[in-house]
Amino acid sequence: MTTDRWWEDAACKGYDTDLFDTKEGDPRVIIDAFCRTCPVRTACLRDALSVEAALLREDPKTKLYYIRGGKTPNERLEIIRSGR
Ligand code: SF4
Repeated sequence: MTTDRWWEDAACKGYDTDLFDTKEGDPRVIIDAFCRTCPVRTACLRDALSVEAALLREDPKTKLYYIRGGKTPNERLEIIRSGR
């Protein structure tokens, strides 16, 4: 069950957030290892898209970082721009 404190059930809880930085390595490895079976993936992605869409409305040049909700920054940008 997803709660308002969804991050408490995250598969990545307690791991170094640098693992989710997409500047190095293959993000698919991290997505497969953590996000694919994460019980709060939907809530994580929804939260990321909500926050990032607001940031992009304020400044369309905002750079997105890190894997969130099983998606890379470019994948999330595509979702936000498509209005999905
Ligand atoms: S979907 Fe990925 S980034 Fe989001 S909480 Fe789960 S493991 Fe962490």
